Amino acid sequence: MIPWLSNAPKLIAKTGPLTDQLKQIETHRGLGVLPIAKVPDATANSVCGYCSTGCGLQVHLVDGKPVNVTPRADYPVNRGMACTKGWEAIRVLDAADRATVPLLRDRNTNTVREIPWLEAVSHFCRRIKGIQQRYGEDSVAFLSTGQIPTEEMAFLGCLAKFGMGIKHGDGNTRQCMATAAVAYKQSFGFDSPPFTYEDFEQSDVLMFVGANPCVAHPILWQRVLRNRRNPTIIVVDPRKTETAMAATEHVQAKPKSDLVLLYGLAREVDRRGAVDWQFVHQSTVGFEALREFIAEYTLDRTAQETGLSTEQLHRIADHLSASKRVSFWWTMGVNQSYQGVRTAQAIINLALMTGNIGRPGTGANSITGQCNAMGSRLFSNTSSLIGHHDFSSAEHRQKISQRLQIPEEKIPTDSGWAYDQIMDGIDTGRVKALWVIATNTAHSWTDSMRAKRLLEKLDFLVVQDMYTTTETAQQADLILPAAAWGEKEGTFINSERRIGTMKRIAKSPGQALSDFSIFRLIAQEWGCDSLFAKWKSPADVFESLKIISEGMPNDMTGIQSYEQLDAVGGIQWPWSSLDQNSIGADREPSQERRLFADGKFFHPDGKAKFLFESPRDMPETPNQEFPFLLLTGRGTVSQWHTQTRTSKSPVLRALYPSDPYIEIHPEDALRLGIRTRDWVLVESPRGKARVQAFVVSTLQVGQVFMPMHDHQTNHLTLQHIDPYSRQPSFKNSIVRIVQEPKTPKRERRRERRRERRGEP
Ligand code: SF4
Repeated sequence: MIPWLSNAPKLIAKTGPLTDQLKQIETHRGLGVLPIAKVPDATANSVCGYCSTGCGLQVHLVDGKPVNVTPRADYPVNRGMACTKGWEAIRVLDAADRATVPLLRDRNTNTVREIPWLEAVSHFCRRIKGIQQRYGEDSVAFLSTGQIPTEEMAFLGCLAKFGMGIKHGDGNTRQCMATAAVAYKQSFGFDSPPFTYEDFEQSDVLMFVGANPCVAHPILWQRVLRNRRNPTIIVVDPRKTETAMAATEHVQAKPKSDLVLLYGLAREVDRRGAVDWQFVHQSTVGFEALREFIAEYTLDRTAQETGLSTEQLHRIADHLSASKRVSFWWTMGVNQSYQGVRTAQAIINLALMTGNIGRPGTGANSITGQCNAMGSRLFSNTSSLIGHHDFSSAEHRQKISQRLQIPEEKIPTDSGWAYDQIMDGIDTGRVKALWVIATNTAHSWTDSMRAKRLLEKLDFLVVQDMYTTTETAQQADLILPAAAWGEKEGTFINSERRIGTMKRIAKSPGQALSDFSIFRLIAQEWGCDSLFAKWKSPADVFESLKIISEGMPNDMTGIQSYEQLDAVGGIQWPWSSLDQNSIGADREPSQERRLFADGKFFHPDGKAKFLFESPRDMPETPNQEFPFLLLTGRGTVSQWHTQTRTSKSPVLRALYPSDPYIEIHPEDALRLGIRTRDWVLVESPRGKARVQAFVVSTLQVGQVFMPMHDHQTNHLTLQHIDPYSRQPSFKNSIVRIVQEPKTPKRERRRERRRERRGEP
């Protein structure tokens, strides 16, 4: 049985072998041989496909099949280390629910049939074109991902927007990194994380804001532990996370008071005479205005609004003022906030005013989430024109037209709708068809019960994914089976701007194709393949991206080939042909390079900007009906996002709790009569979740925590976005907790199964 549409699956037809279909495709469409990389014999190097750390892995092959993985000792990122997800990278490839053949659902008869690729692609194009003709240019959208290689996401963005006339497209990177991208762009003039991982080992003070690297980026935490400068570690987090427990100072501020805290600290640093005036004068604009603004954030006000003691605020300000090398690091606690951009910029302001940038052990450093979020930020052709250009600039459109040899009139003049606007567009009936690639909207978007309802409203939902069982795939009209990490090739860009390669080390199951090949088929069928005639392989796309990047802050023209990237341990952008010439053609680029060593930023005047704004109230605050504030985050090292992959590894599954859970403070638990392992019902104004309680003292009274991995967590969250980045705020929803009457274990299991299937 096909594990798809589990409430009513009925498979009524099967299709033939892929080789026959490809022959057909080649014969009838003149497509030529689809790109299939060589499978090496003994070992192959590849960058891990989970998180943005970008560890180098060595995959061991027997008879051309991957059997095991070891971390690369010679890779500058991980230096012989990997987390559990990396060690288990190949175990998740042959899961039973892999999508192996295109599947088409007939809504009238509620049946599913396997169809040949030709029919699937033809059906896809016919339906999308029909909907566009009937409902207009807003009626079709796509949602992409930070999990596929740069070349594939660039192809997708260009195919959809230049080839198919799909106006609106966004990626799941909107959920994790949009805030950092916008903050950098506004402050530095380009989306440019300035650091290199060596900075973890070179700092005297490391300040983590809304970041829990012990769990979310464990290899980066190992880099911190290698720091021999006896660093002070400051962790700003409402929870006493694993990282906070290891810190010198845990700054347990009230949730979402981080902006006030950062402004108050800036004032204190200024009062201590720790401003680097030479740097501020030469390399920045707007400091005097910031100074005037932060004057209001007195120590007393900061202490009152953050819930911290003035003594602790003094101590932190002393650390930031007295140390030569201070690095600031942030992740989702900042990004996933309704005022995330200004919070990220308050961190950037601290680094700029103290001159902590461009030197070893310094920087205002955003750690990315997904393995290729950085690739998406630069090249997905969604929120910015491919290569970090501007859709609204005639000059940029002309440049891209010339460099990609795409007619200028094919390039839209605006970026189209962001993720939340696409969802709202479905709600209002303007978006009728959605093409979802390697992401799981029905689970991961805020207020996910609404997200599910919206997906049901669509006339046509296409899911291109490696699994048939994701919550989103289960709602699809058409599933296009895609190859996974390790079954195709391309490049990822990690958090420190390092471009590394992913290799094809395994064959994809059944008829699954690389996303690259699927895009080629669609381009062919749509009739726009001539626009992309040069792109016969991912390496061809990479060459085009290099051409686009020439003269940009992320210039990659000095990179010679995938083989070179592999041999030298990846290359951080920028690496221009001028850079390569300057060291000589036969020498390798340095493995650790940071930006802004010359004090020059990417705004036209070469200066960074101080940006700030008064904090805003939380969109919803606990009240009598919903008295708790729900915080969300990563559960364990062994879990990844919606667990579509990590749940397939028995090893990983054994390393995280099998049941969904909520953490609650002992005082609250006592008041409600809740004990550890009691089942409770958590309700928000949007939905509910049935979870096990864990009574822990790592939270503050009135706060509860749920890991993001269980599908129920986003039943509770609200779609509230940062006004600049349009990134949703996942970490401040109001909930109440009701103790569940005891039900027999078996009945509970049944109920959870029913709930997962969306049954009443
Ligand atoms: Fe490294 Fe991240 Fe992969 Fe773990 S998941 S091995 S930290 S890249």
